[in-house]
Amino acid sequence: MIFERDLRTGEVEVCGALADRLGDWPAPRSFEAWKSMVHPEDLEQVLSNMSRHIRSGERYSGEFRVIGRNGQTYHYSSRGQSIRNPAGEPYKWIGLATDITERKTAEEAVSQLAAIVQSSEDAIIGTSLEGSITTWNGGAEKLLGFTAAEALSAPFSILLARPDQAAEILDPSARGEVSRRDEAVFKRQDGTEVPVSLTVSPIRKASGGIAGVATIARDISARKRSEDQLAYQAQHDHLTGLPNRILLADRLASSIDRARQGGLMTAVIYVDLDGFKLVNDTLGHEAGDELLQQVTDRLRACIRDPDTLARMGGDEFMLVLNLVPEDAIALAIAERLRAALKKPFSVADRQLYVTASMGISMYPRDGGDVSTLRRNADAAMYQAKHSGKDRVLFFTPALRTTVLERLELETELRRALERSELSIEYQPIFEVSGNRQTAFEALARWVHPTLGSVPPAKFIRVAEETGLIVQLGAWVLREACRRCRSWQDGGYASVRVGVNVSALEFARPEFVGNVLAILEETGLPADLLELELTETMLMRDMDDSIRRVSELRERGIRISIDDFGAGYSSLGYLPRLPIDTLKIDRSFVAELGLNDTALSLMEGMISLAHSIGKRVVVEGVETEDQLATLRRIECDEVQGFLLGKPRSLAVFDQREVDSVVEDAALVPQFS
Ligand code: C2E
Ligand code: MG
Ligand code: MG
Repeated sequence: MIFERDLRTGEVEVCGALADRLGDWPAPRSFEAWKSMVHPEDLEQVLSNMSRHIRSGERYSGEFRVIGRNGQTYHYSSRGQSIRNPAGEPYKWIGLATDITERKTAEEAVSQLAAIVQSSEDAIIGTSLEGSITTWNGGAEKLLGFTAAEALSAPFSILLARPDQAAEILDPSARGEVSRRDEAVFKRQDGTEVPVSLTVSPIRKASGGIAGVATIARDISARKRSEDQLAYQAQHDHLTGLPNRILLADRLASSIDRARQGGLMTAVIYVDLDGFKLVNDTLGHEAGDELLQQVTDRLRACIRDPDTLARMGGDEFMLVLNLVPEDAIALAIAERLRAALKKPFSVADRQLYVTASMGISMYPRDGGDVSTLRRNADAAMYQAKHSGKDRVLFFTPALRTTVLERLELETELRRALERSELSIEYQPIFEVSGNRQTAFEALARWVHPTLGSVPPAKFIRVAEETGLIVQLGAWVLREACRRCRSWQDGGYASVRVGVNVSALEFARPEFVGNVLAILEETGLPADLLELELTETMLMRDMDDSIRRVSELRERGIRISIDDFGAGYSSLGYLPRLPIDTLKIDRSFVAELGLNDTALSLMEGMISLAHSIGKRVVVEGVETEDQLATLRRIECDEVQGFLLGKPRSLAVFDQREVDSVVEDAALVPQFS
């Protein structure tokens, strides 16, 4: 835009290719109009410069900005000179204004870009084609510790943990390629290393040739740390910090390789704590966790470094022993583990005794791969558990069938519960002095469609191990209460029903509530229900047992101790327990006629019970001699095949109940 300004009137005339606009304004027609368009920050400076030049007559050149109608900024460069009249006074200003907005914007973009590069968190490093550093931003200084002054013109290779990799990193870009590396290792000024990801690209000249290489390096140590942590977590048990089953599989696989090469064996020892479930159920999960940690510490102390102790889940551990020359070594270490658990653990202010059942399998004899060895050690452990716990057994091929059988039983029992394949038989209990029947004991029965009848000793144990007992027990209780209620209606108003309760059911907090609910639902008076508990389950947590038993007793429910004398009886606890009856284990009756000790034991137990106000039921009475003896030594009630076998009484049938009673009445001495 070429313009002519009349210095006296302020009028402005414009011409030129872009004469009609200044920014997005129509071209100014007066000096005042022009001033209103100029950026206020520039105006004063421009005006004073201009008047100086008007006065001196010198050529002027400068820049100014225009603020457009919509607030946008336009850049102009301007040149001008005053023209004088013959009297020598300046009367006109002739000028030229050029729109330089585009150039200015580009310049600003460049300087912004430089600021962005400088302040970037990523290290941005330019290098010449010879590999010396030409650009060094703030991110590079922060990451690597060198200042720009120290880094510039130094070779790129000083930044690398392995300097010989410099060419490998830079050369592709020097040839025009862009390359990325997920992981490289840089070395800081202080010598420490830092993992980085790299993007390397060529720096091109305007002419298209390559001037150098730009490397953008990003610190990935945080990501690496969390990756490492994730990898650790994925392979370790969070409670104990031991390797988990995934890492164990790895270690076992490499141990197998080493054994194969060395012509030696690998031993796999499966360790399962006995009765841990009960600790968890009665003392709570926190106590259970605490116990597991203490157990871990003791087991860990027994092993050497190249061997692996892992937690397989729950209360199961596995130990892999490397390069074992003979079975005896594996056995010795297993026994060492067992011995380490012998001292009591102190958890939640209690002394807990913990034992473990263990099974051992040996590579190559018992399996050639990880899963076979693991499975076979597990099978041996199961056998150890079922032959009395707290012991170590080696795997033998015969074991496998036992385990399969057990697995099958579990699946089948689950199904049996769903399909109502279970039933109940009732065995009568009589007063020893007469033929009055006092109760029926409810005994669960399972007749499997193909396996036939499965003995309760077998399926109750499986039910207890799998937790199915809770469902099974509730079913037996409800069914038995309903049945007993119907005997009442049939005229046997005072015949009670005895129901066996397993430790797992009794330990559940909702147990008492469930029993009361079932009584309510079936309408059976509480004093016609007798729950049979065992000594071991009551002794686990005496205070809690007393509380629960009292609660049941307050509602009128009767409580007996089943299989009394079969476990480790501790007579001290008996007087404290608010129970009604002791049921003496049938092993005592079986020996009655055989030796005198059995008789005195029986007498002792009966008089002890009577002295603290408990009644005595003797189980397993099979012969008339036994019955006679029991009458003489004044036990209170008897139960046994002699007096009546468990019968189904499937549907209430007065005659069937009668016949059970009559059978008993037929026993000659029993009148
Ligand atoms: P238990 O509670 O001690 O039941 C008495 C067991 O002795 C029954 O065995 C019964 O058939 C058997 N028996 C009775 N009289 C005689 C006899 O004169 N001679 C001999 N040799 N045995 C006799 P069963 O039915 O095999 O039950 C075994 C155990 O299974 C029971 O022992 C009880 O602990 C458990 N059980 C049975 N049903 C249930 C149930 O519903 N729940 C729970 N938790 N356990 C149950
Ligand atoms: Mg019983
Ligand atoms: Mg019993």
